[in-house]
Order: sequence, then C-alpha cells, then structure tokens
Amino acid sequence: MNAFAELGLGVPLLRVLEEREHFTPTPVQSKAIPAVLWGRDVWAQAQTGSGKTAAFALPILQNFAEPQASSPRGVLILVPTRELAAQVGSTIKEYARHLPKSLKIVTVYGGVSINPQMMKLRGRADVVVATPGRLLDLVEKNAFNLSTVSLLVLDEADRLLDLGFSDELGRILEMLPRQRQNLLFSATFPDAVTTLAEAILSDPVRIEIEDSTESAPDILEQAIEVDVPRRTQLLVNLIKSNGWSRVLVFVATKYATEHIADKLRRAGIEAGALNGELSQGARTRALADFQSSKIQVLVATDLAARGIDVVQLPAVVNYDLPRSAVDYTHRIGRTARAGETGVAVSFVSAETHAHFRLIEKRNQRQIPREQIEGFEPVETDIPKPEGTGGVKGKRKSKKDKLREAAARSANPSAPPAKPLDPSFRWHRADSNPRGRK
Ligand code: AMP
Repeated sequence: MNAFAELGLGVPLLRVLEEREHFTPTPVQSKAIPAVLWGRDVWAQAQTGSGKTAAFALPILQNFAEPQASSPRGVLILVPTRELAAQVGSTIKEYARHLPKSLKIVTVYGGVSINPQMMKLRGRADVVVATPGRLLDLVEKNAFNLSTVSLLVLDEADRLLDLGFSDELGRILEMLPRQRQNLLFSATFPDAVTTLAEAILSDPVRIEIEDSTESAPDILEQAIEVDVPRRTQLLVNLIKSNGWSRVLVFVATKYATEHIADKLRRAGIEAGALNGELSQGARTRALADFQSSKIQVLVATDLAARGIDVVQLPAVVNYDLPRSAVDYTHRIGRTARAGETGVAVSFVSAETHAHFRLIEKRNQRQIPREQIEGFEPVETDIPKPEGTGGVKGKRKSKKDKLREAAARSANPSAPPAKPLDPSFRWHRADSNPRGRK
C-alpha cells in the first residue's frame, strides 16, 4: 500500500503525489498528516525544504474531499512574504487538482492592487493564503470575514515575527473564532515564537525533526577567503569552474543585487536581480526566469532567503555575509531541498572574519577556511578590541552605516522587527473543535 495512503489520504491526492513523484512521505509529513486529519493542533519544528507545505496542505485538502461533521469550514494560512504566499497558494491548487469538488483557494498579499483580491474573495473562500498586512486591509474593507475560519496555519512563524508582524498577528487572532484548529510551523523557536505557540496551541502534537539525520539536508558548507574587491571575479570563476546550473547569490543591498547581476552579465553569465524595491511583477518575473533556467544566477537580498522553493538549486553563495546566524541557516537552506545535495559558499574577507566566526559559533559548527588559487587575499585582519558589542570590537564605519541604510531601504515594505509584547493576550483555542483528541 502506498505510504501516503496509510497516512489517510484518498485517491485524488494520491494521484497528484504520484504525478509529482512524491512516493515516500518526509518525516514531517508522516507525523503531521495524521495529526491534522484527527483535528489536533500541531507544533512543528520543520527545516526549510522538509516538505512542510504538503504536510499541512494534504490533510487540509483531504478533509475538504471527505468532509466529516467536524472538518474545517474555512482555512486561513498566514505566511510572511508575498513570494511564499504565491508559492503556497499555487502548491495547494496543484494538490487540489483531482479533488471531485473544486475548492476556492485565494491568495492575497500586499504590493499589488487590492481590488482584484476583493473580487476573488466574494462569496465564500475555502482556503485563503495571506500575508498579515494585506489580510487586515481586506478585513477592514469587509472583503473577508475572519469568523469563517476554523483552521489556522502559521507558516514560518519565526519569520512572521522577525518581520515585525506580531501586532498584525495579534489583531488577526483576536478576530478569529476561539474554537479552531491551529497548526504552527517554524524553522526556529526563539522565545517569541515559543510564547506565541504556547498561547495559541491547545494540547498540540509536537513534531521535532530538525536534527534527525534522515531529514538533515545534505549541504556542503565552504568558507572562501577573498579580498572584497575580488569577489565578483571569484564568483565568475566558481560559477564557470563548478558548472553550477543555478546559483542564488546573496548580497547586502538592493544596489548590489543590480550591480553584481550587471557585472555577471558582462562576464557572459545570464543573471537577474531580486530585491524588495522591485515591483511585484518584476519580482515574480525574476523568480520565474530563475525557475525556468532563463537566467543562471539570481542575485538577491535576504528577501529571497526564506520560503522560496527552487527545485534543484545546487549552489548558494553568500557574497555578503548575512547579518545573523539564523539568516545564515535560512539562506543556505535554499539549496539541498527535498533530498538533493548542494553547496553553500561564504566569501570571508579580512573585514568579515570576526562576523563569520560569530555565525559559526552561534550555529555550533566550524567551517574550514579555503583559498582559491589566483584569489588568495592580501588584505589583513583588523585588530579587534573585546567587549564593544555587536560583532566584537568592530565599530560601525561610515561605509557600514551606509550599507545598513541601503539594506533597510532595500526592503521598505518590511516594518522594523518588534519584539513580541509579552503583555499581549493571544487568543487560545481552548477546546478541541473537532472533539477527536
Ligand atoms: P517545502 O518544505 O514544503 O518547501 O517543500 C520542499 C520541496 O520538497 C518541494 O519542491 C516539494 O515539492 C518537495 N516535496 C515535498 N514532499 C515531498 C515528498 N514526499 N517527496 C519528495 N519531494 C517532496
């Protein structure tokens, strides 16, 4: 018997899974699918690329396909970014393809005109995938009624809070019916996410698979020492010598995405830029060109670090290092998804040695430094007095400050991260709506 059938999925979903050549459930799917079908709340720590979208989408769709008295009537899936919303929405539509009754699945996010989204929400939507800000706009315009929701999914909850969505989340939770099923997925569990999970989940099934070797992605991490001015040449050299079919390159600023993509094009490599200042249409196009291999390299800010699923991405390059260890994990998690292998290269210069050591320390790993012939660094390390906060001993230079300002302006739509207000009372779904625990 098909392993997915054993988890309780019916023929229409099994057909799609077969078409997509998903024959074996991933660990998070094995645990989450039966739990969701049984109406339980779920608290899942799932690494990016672990198959978590299907882990919640499949049982939700199964419940629509064969409704029980207690099946959810309306599903709301909250995600942190527009790109993830578009991706989750289209994945769910794809999985729903063979269901006997067609479902109304609506995706809404900011940065595009609200009117078509209001039209789509007319009548009753079965599944709504949304970013929090736009969802609230739609609620305020009476285009969507949160009281119809009986199942809530928080996807990438850590990122939702990182991006400063805690106020929006709080307002949404206040308007949701108290009796509902809740599924919370997060790659990491900082205190704010744990507080949120404890507040909204009722007797959840806990799923922790991050450390299991079975699900750990197969990523070869490399740290290459190189002087700042030589990074683009080194990048060109690596792309050509390794024959990477697709490369995602992370840089710190919006300007750098365009500047480096331009330099790569001049070196004969098809490249595009992705950053938060591009229009939604341009962002979607850049990703589509990357997915369809029209461009070989996508140069992006951290906007692209989370949630974007590029099948077969053999390499990620940290041209500029990420700001935090958590961002590092999310960036490199773009490669080696769903059982593939991948390489994650970080460029380390004299200026960024200390910062990279901090990232390694936080992630409890040590990555040997390498040098590439012809690109050996000549710049020397900056001496670092201890105890001045941030990356130890490194006071912000004018250049750093400009770079930070540019990075902030690269994603103006993201409000500054705010800590979760501990006094806020999240609404708890305090009884099991489906009575099947
Ligand atoms: P996600 O973690 O949801 O972003 O999924 C990552 C990738 O894994 C996507 O490309 C999925 O199509 C793929 N995937 C999901 N479930 C399976 C499975 N059971 N077997 C193989 N690939 C899968």
